[in-house]
Amino acid sequence: MLRKVIPLCALIGLTNIAGAQNINLKSASKFANTITADDLKKHLTIVASDEMEGRGTATQGEIKAANYIAGYMKSIGLTPGNNGSYFQLWPIYQDSLISTNLSINNQEYKYGTDFLPGAGNSNAQYNFSEVVFVNPKDTAFLNNKVNITGKLVLISPQSESNPRASMMQQFRLMSQLQSKGAAAVLIVSNNLPAKKLPEPTGRLKVSKYNSSVNISNYSISPALAQAITNINFADADAIKDLPVKTYKAEISLAYNGTTQTLESRNVLGIIEGTDLKDEYVVLTAHFDHEGIKDGVIYNGADDDGSGTVSILELAEAFAAAKKAGKGPRRTIVFMAVSGEEKGLLGSAYYGSHPVFPLEKTSVNLNIDMIGRLDSTHIAENKTNYVYIVGDDKLSTELNPITYKANKLTNLHLNHKYNDPKDPMRIYYRSDHYNFAKYGVPIIFYFNGTHADYHQPSDKVEKINFDIMEKRAKLVFYTAWEIANKNEMLKRDLKLPEQGGR
Ligand SMILES: [Zn+2]
Repeated sequence: MLRKVIPLCALIGLTNIAGAQNINLKSASKFANTITADDLKKHLTIVASDEMEGRGTATQGEIKAANYIAGYMKSIGLTPGNNGSYFQLWPIYQDSLISTNLSINNQEYKYGTDFLPGAGNSNAQYNFSEVVFVNPKDTAFLNNKVNITGKLVLISPQSESNPRASMMQQFRLMSQLQSKGAAAVLIVSNNLPAKKLPEPTGRLKVSKYNSSVNISNYSISPALAQAITNINFADADAIKDLPVKTYKAEISLAYNGTTQTLESRNVLGIIEGTDLKDEYVVLTAHFDHEGIKDGVIYNGADDDGSGTVSILELAEAFAAAKKAGKGPRRTIVFMAVSGEEKGLLGSAYYGSHPVFPLEKTSVNLNIDMIGRLDSTHIAENKTNYVYIVGDDKLSTELNPITYKANKLTNLHLNHKYNDPKDPMRIYYRSDHYNFAKYGVPIIFYFNGTHADYHQPSDKVEKINFDIMEKRAKLVFYTAWEIANKNEMLKRDLKLPEQGGR
């Protein structure tokens, strides 16, 4: 997409008066040149090594990576960013199963072979003397001809042609049963006995409190359904038109789980500003990745090892400037966040527990994947680009500053993902959004996706360090300009509603 050309006079207007201290953009290039492909490679070879175990949120690998980042920040003289510590710790929650039982007429059945509890079950124990079979095709229970309030319900979802349709059908059915007040549900499943037992731990989540509880549900084998009803549930024809009916049986169900509190961390280091030190420029990248899945390490070299090590090199460049008496006027916060892959959790925690006031945060520049080329640019044999997202939102100053900074890097600035109608909805999908939603102007830097995206093959050997160096320098010049200008960025544009403007 072609962007409007910024008239030269607008750029002259932006040149900061702090030229007296000789901290204009031209004097920045000496420090920008400390950001090198070699240094980026040196850091990334460590951050994306197997040693870091894929940097999964709240894992040992995360701790190792966080220690490396904090150690480097310390070595170049950054001040700890969180009241004397380089770490901002935050809690994260995970449900796990302790025990579960199912018996029919005093016979105990076997977990995994005969039944499996639903993933979202809450702790509950029930003893029922009967069960109501409901045919999903029959809407009798929906129009209250059959009362299922407080009842145990048995369903046998009609097999749909594809798994997604089956899942949707089951999801719809469960919410209908819940809305009609059923206490618990037995779902006949042909996937039992299970080939592989589910993990005893569930998804990571940001709160241990839920706005509502799910209806208790258990998948059971066709044999169990037959033990209750005397009907052969393995035979699709036998149950196709089976009417609603109550069956007598003594059925006990028990689910006992616990919510574990785990710990994750963001890593923060700062370079204190000079005359405007109570205002902030926050530079972010997420350092977490997918961790180890099925014994395979996901190194995440591009995602987002590339952004993580860029933050380290940006910090080094600003530290060198400070040593040379050209430190930033505003305080610069260098932050590697975790939990991004689990739903932007680390940046969400920072947004709700900001160490530095968000209303005094002039900008957040966020980097997520800048070490590769996407398939579009490979096909066109164009390497000299970066996707820019968000520079036309929240502040009219972001766009001209970006173009001014880019005069020193000459990258092709591609705004494809900036379009709110773009199906990828990138503006809402990385950590910058947790600043934007509080009104902090943001720019996001991104190389687009590629075949190795979220694959174990996202490895350091595939990184293009020359283009990564250039992109990191663009972020550096942009941060330099915003950290040193006379005023904080104006907040003169509205954030478009999610889903388009
Ligand atoms: Zn990422």
